[in-house]
Amino acid sequence: MRIQNPATGGVIATVSADNAKAVRAKYDRARAAQPRWAARPMVKRLAAIREFRAQVVARQDVLARTLSEEVGKPLRQSRNELNALTGRLDFFLAESAHTLRDERVFASAEQKLTERITHEPLGVIANISAWNYPYFVGSNVFVPALVAGNAVLYKPSEFATLTGLHIAEMMQASGVPEDVFIPVIGDGATGAALLRMPVDGVFFTGSYGTGAKIAASTGRRMIKAQLELGGKDPIYVTDNVDVKSAAAAVADGAFYNTGQSCCSVERIYVHEAVHDAFVDAFVAEVKGFKVGDPLDESTYIGAITRKPQLTVLKRQVGDAVKKGAKLRLGGDVLRRKGNWFAPTVLTDVDHSMAVMRDESFGPIIGIQAVADDDAAVDLMNDSEYGLTAGVYVRDEKRGRRILSRVNAGTVYWNCCDRVSPRLPWSGVKHSGIGLTLSTYGIQTFTRPKAWHLRSS
Ligand code: NAD
Repeated sequence: MRIQNPATGGVIATVSADNAKAVRAKYDRARAAQPRWAARPMVKRLAAIREFRAQVVARQDVLARTLSEEVGKPLRQSRNELNALTGRLDFFLAESAHTLRDERVFASAEQKLTERITHEPLGVIANISAWNYPYFVGSNVFVPALVAGNAVLYKPSEFATLTGLHIAEMMQASGVPEDVFIPVIGDGATGAALLRMPVDGVFFTGSYGTGAKIAASTGRRMIKAQLELGGKDPIYVTDNVDVKSAAAAVADGAFYNTGQSCCSVERIYVHEAVHDAFVDAFVAEVKGFKVGDPLDESTYIGAITRKPQLTVLKRQVGDAVKKGAKLRLGGDVLRRKGNWFAPTVLTDVDHSMAVMRDESFGPIIGIQAVADDDAAVDLMNDSEYGLTAGVYVRDEKRGRRILSRVNAGTVYWNCCDRVSPRLPWSGVKHSGIGLTLSTYGIQTFTRPKAWHLRSS
C-alpha cells in the first residue's frame, strides 16, 4: 500500500497491508493474550499508559512531522493535536481507577445480602479509526479500552497509516504487550475483514456511509457497536454580539484543520440585523488565513487529505451558485501539485443547497441570514446530523434558551469546534450512536456485572 503526501502527490512510504489471513492471525493473538492483560492490576495498566504519554512527549517533533506529511495538516496544528493529546491522557490517568472501581450498592445484615457491581472488560475490541485527528479519535477509544483490560485491534485509516504505526510502536515501548494492542493495516477491505472476526465490540470513527454499513454487519451479532460519525454543525450568530470577535472565532471554527474536523462549523446563520457586518468581517478574516506548505510554521490552511473530496467541494459550490448563492471568496481547486481547495465563503444560501445539507469536510462555508431565534433554531435542527451546534450571544439566558431547543450531542455558548475530555462526545441522528470521553467514555469499554451475594 502506497502512502501519499496529499500536499505534493508524492509517495512517502510503502507498507504492506493485512489480508484476511493476516487479520485472522492478529485476532487469534489478541484473543489469547487478553485474559492475561485483564488480570494485571489496573495500576500496572495505567503505568503503561503513563509511559505512553512520556513517549508522545519525547517523540513529538517526529510524530507531528509524520502527521503533517501524510494527512496534509499544518505542522502547528499537528503539534496542537499532540499537546492536547497529553491532556486527554491525563484525564484517563486521573479518572479511570475511580470510575471503574467495584461498587457495593446495597448491604443488609438482616437479609444477609450484598449487591455489587464490577466493571468487566468487553474482551477483544476492533477500533476502526479516521484520519482527520488520528491521535484524538484513536486515543479516545484505545486508551480507556486498554485501561479497562481489553485487547485492541486498531485499524488506523489508510490515510493515517504511518501515524498508526507510530502509535503501535509507542504502545509496545511503553509495556503494552504486542499481542494486546495490535495495528491492523489497510483500507476499507481490511476493515471489513476485521469486522468478520468474532470481536466483542466495535468502536468506529468515520463517515455516516461506512458507519451504516458497519451497523448492518454488527447488528445481528449482539455486540457493542459505537459509531462516531459525521456532522453538519451549525452556528447561530445573534444580533447581541461583538461582530468582529464572533466572526474571527467562527471563521477559526470553520477553517481550522482545513475544515476537515467532525465538529468543524459547517453552516452559519446570522441575525439579519448584523448579517452584512458579519459577512464583511468574516471574509476579511478568511482572507488572512495563509494557505500553503503544511510543514511551514505560518501555514493555517493545508491540503485536502483525500483527492475525491475536491470533486465534492467543487460540486457543492457549483450547486449553490446555480441556485442563487453569492460566491464571496474562493470557489475552486487550486492549480498546484497535490490536493488543494481555496478557502471558500458563500452567502445567500438556503437549505435547497447541498452546501447547507451535506457534510463538506473542507474549507468551504455557507452563511444564511435569519429573521429571529425561532427561524435559526428551526434551521439548525433541519439536518440529518446532530453532532455539535453553537450560538454567539452576550445574553446567557437567551443563549441557553436557544441551545436547549437544539438537537445535538454537544452545544456551545460563545465558542465552537471544541472537545473536552471531561465531557461526553456523542452525536444524535446520523452523527452516530454511543460516546467517548468523560467518565461515561471510560465505562463504555466495560460491561457492568451484577453480583447478588447472600451469606448462608
Ligand atoms: P471513512 O468512513 O471513509 O473511513 C473510516 C474508517 O473506516 C477507515 O479506517 C476506513 O479504512 C474504514 N472502512 C472503510 N470502509 C469500511 C468497511 N466497509 N468496513 C470496515 N471499515 C471500513 O471516514 P474517514 O474519511 O476516515 O473520516 C472522515 C469522517 O469521519 C467524516 O465524516 C467525519 O465527520 C467523521 N469523523 C467523526 C468523528 C466523531 O467523533 N464523530 C471524528 C472524526 C471524524
